[in-house]
Amino acid sequence: MALSFCSLASGSSGNCQYVASDKTRLLVDAGMSGKYIKQSLEHIDVHIGDVNGILLTHEHADHISGLGVLMRRFKLPLYVTEKTWEVVAPKVGAIDSGLLHVYDKIEDLEIGDILVQSARVSHDAVDPLCYAFRHDRSKIGIATDLGTISDEVIETFKDCDLLMIEANHDIEMLKTGRYPLYLKRRILSEFGHLSNEDAGFVAKEILKYGFTKHILLAHLSKENNFPDLAFETVRGILEEAGAVPGEDMLLDLTYRDRVGKYYRISK
Ligand SMILES: [Zn+2]
Ligand SMILES: [Zn+2]
Repeated sequence: MALSFCSLASGSSGNCQYVASDKTRLLVDAGMSGKYIKQSLEHIDVHIGDVNGILLTHEHADHISGLGVLMRRFKLPLYVTEKTWEVVAPKVGAIDSGLLHVYDKIEDLEIGDILVQSARVSHDAVDPLCYAFRHDRSKIGIATDLGTISDEVIETFKDCDLLMIEANHDIEMLKTGRYPLYLKRRILSEFGHLSNEDAGFVAKEILKYGFTKHILLAHLSKENNFPDLAFETVRGILEEAGAVPGEDMLLDLTYRDRVGKYYRISK
């Protein structure tokens, strides 16, 4: 009775996460090419045709660019909210309607033997969500493209064994970097992305509940962050709060262009 997790890619150039029990295999987002996703799954010994469903966090290109291929070529079902589907459908092309599961809200949805919980987030998309997955007593959370940290987000993820949390940018790098002002404002706004400091704050809050053993930093910007900087910033915040990465929990990175570590949570 275990839940597994692997980040196939995470960042502004594409996102796709794998969550699975021993019987049910899910993808969160399909923002890399179909070929990349197929090969990444092979890398962890999963045949793409055995995936039972895709969930979308929101409609931005870095989360859906491979969706059409996955649905057409590999016949993967999609679980999506009505509002998100309205804006995704024109970008996906013709698909078999039997693969489509459209919901008004995604709340406590069961796919196979995995319970999917969702929380609304304030990112600049029509109906952005983040997800937590429960199987037996294990729980995994995926929290990227957040905008701000709400009570709902903390409440949804407080009892996760493993939490993947957005650490998009270093605030100084973003402010002094070469992005145009409107983009800097968007990223820093409550509809943009969480900074390294924000990720550290969420990790610190979540750890207070005593469940979380793995914190993975995600959706790192290529322009406005460095993996080491994100890691050290979050590590510093956690250590200041009295939690030592490597002892009290594991702190890891995910990657923009390659498969991350494979985690298996069993209790
Ligand atoms: Zn994104
Ligand atoms: Zn986005």
